[in-house]
Amino acid sequence: MLLRMSNLFLRTLREDPADAEVPSHKLLVRAGYVRRAAPGIYTWLPLGKIVLENVARVVREEMNAIGGQEVLLPALLPKEFYETTGRWEEYGDTLFRLKDRKGADYLLGPTHEELFTLLVKGEYSSYKDFPVVLYQIQEKFRDEARPRAGVLRGREFHMKDSYSFDTDDEGLQQSYDQHRAAYIRIFDRLGLDYVIVSATSGAMGGSASEEFLAVAPTGEDTFVRSTESDYAANVEAVRTPAPAEGSVEGLPEARVHHTPGTATIQTLVDFLNGAGLDRDFTEADTLKNVLVKTRAPGSKEWELLGIGLPGDREVDLKRLEAALEPTEVALLDDADFAANTFLAKGYIGPRALLDNKVRYLVDPRVATGTSWVTGADRTDHHVLDLVAGRDFTPDGTIDVAEVRDGDASPDGRGTLYTARGIEIGHIFQLGRKYTDAFKLDALGPDGKPRRVTMGSYGIGVSRAVASVVEQSHDDKGIVWPREIAPADVHVVGTGKGGEVEEALRIGGELEARGLRVLVDDRKAAPGVKFNDAELLGIPTVVIVGRGLKDGLVELRDRRTGERTDVPVGEIVESTVAACGG
Ligand code: ATP
Ligand code: MG
Repeated sequence: MLLRMSNLFLRTLREDPADAEVPSHKLLVRAGYVRRAAPGIYTWLPLGKIVLENVARVVREEMNAIGGQEVLLPALLPKEFYETTGRWEEYGDTLFRLKDRKGADYLLGPTHEELFTLLVKGEYSSYKDFPVVLYQIQEKFRDEARPRAGVLRGREFHMKDSYSFDTDDEGLQQSYDQHRAAYIRIFDRLGLDYVIVSATSGAMGGSASEEFLAVAPTGEDTFVRSTESDYAANVEAVRTPAPAEGSVEGLPEARVHHTPGTATIQTLVDFLNGAGLDRDFTEADTLKNVLVKTRAPGSKEWELLGIGLPGDREVDLKRLEAALEPTEVALLDDADFAANTFLAKGYIGPRALLDNKVRYLVDPRVATGTSWVTGADRTDHHVLDLVAGRDFTPDGTIDVAEVRDGDASPDGRGTLYTARGIEIGHIFQLGRKYTDAFKLDALGPDGKPRRVTMGSYGIGVSRAVASVVEQSHDDKGIVWPREIAPADVHVVGTGKGGEVEEALRIGGELEARGLRVLVDDRKAAPGVKFNDAELLGIPTVVIVGRGLKDGLVELRDRRTGERTDVPVGEIVESTVAACGG
């Protein structure tokens, strides 16, 4: 059915909404695709609903292609399922909780691992039933701390969530790989520029979890990428290349220097450079020893951990947490220093740590054969030429120093720089966390029960709409990729000499040729119509205007701005061709 702007429920706005900061938020509101109902809660208007459904269709087609079966679970869920897994508590303030008339607790589903596990448990029991992949496209609810940027981060939003169930680890790997491939096809079809980054440090096993990030300066996720290759990673997952181990033969002897008032790296470097020694020092020549405390899960005891790294770098707390997970980590307080008098604050060296059985891990750059200036474990004293592997042997390495622009790319090609992205998808090998909680087993061929293993995979369907706009717009409006555009062609009729009627006639013919058509048949000034066409962003525009009396109409490409005059008799063929048909 022809979409006619004369009766379409659509009002475009001239002004950006006051609360909007990012382009997609401004444009989706101005072009009348969405309207804010409340903070983080949005209404999809007719054209917006079409775009949203188009994204959902692409997702559905690719999910079905890997054998996924679509279901629809309730969003309103009793508390007990989430209590079993501990997530009723774990989710904290992010969970929308409510009570029914009898006072029983409910929640609005933020994601559905629990219910899917129970669903499969209720229906399936034999290894012959597996593997199975189920998915849904549904509204999710999260009381986000900072709902922002319109539908990019909503409190109610649309997600495709799928779950794979397998009877062994190889099966899970296969289900994961299939999802990964499907996600690549989905985001390619949506026309997104994205990277796939490993979401875990690797400590928990390779690619157990990966995120798809749409590259956008407005994104909330930081990642690093290489200037030369397609290497991309979450900062937590970057592995610093270790220098080759050097020989310790013939290196100068370590010696202690009196270095008064040098408790910071900068004062130390300044002191050394003014001390008349036969070389210059930089911060990178110093070995800084940072003390933290760690606590293993289930333990009450905190243990000290020393981290040695080049003095020009800080420990990145997020990288540290990721490297130690699930062990907790905290900074030392004054009481900790008081209780460990061997720690000479500002002058801590490897010696005191190793002598006092403090676990001591070093940055990969502190390789065997490297020589350092570091604390001598005595106030106002440092030791020079302390050689790793000769004068001290750490307990291992830990890769938690900050990653900086210009650092070598771990794949050996180019250097790293920081970029920002929007998380549009997440694939995750969950393993048996939920199947253990609900005791989901399948009887094996030997008649013995086996615990099922699970994967969970999400795509932000509504977020994807906004991500496309973030990447595909100009100063006049949105530029939709055809696959998800609200229409293929926008036919604009301007003038009072039958142009509007002609626009409707051409629109009808285009529709008969299988195109999705929007016709601007409103009583409005040409300028208003042209501006709206650019704002709405339909990829192909046909202008039926002044040229009509000479038998010409104009074909415009929204993306390139290219304009061609076409004889009326040829416009249908030309438009079908322009639309790729
Ligand atoms: P984020 O880190 O952005 O909060 P998340 O890691 O909590 O996201 P997941 O639980 O992995 O999100 O959810 C799967 C997908 O759902 C995400 O990859 C994202 O595309 C989408 N999504 C998550 N939260 C929101 C939200 N508040 N609004 C819109 N989409 C969201
Ligand atoms: Mg995620």
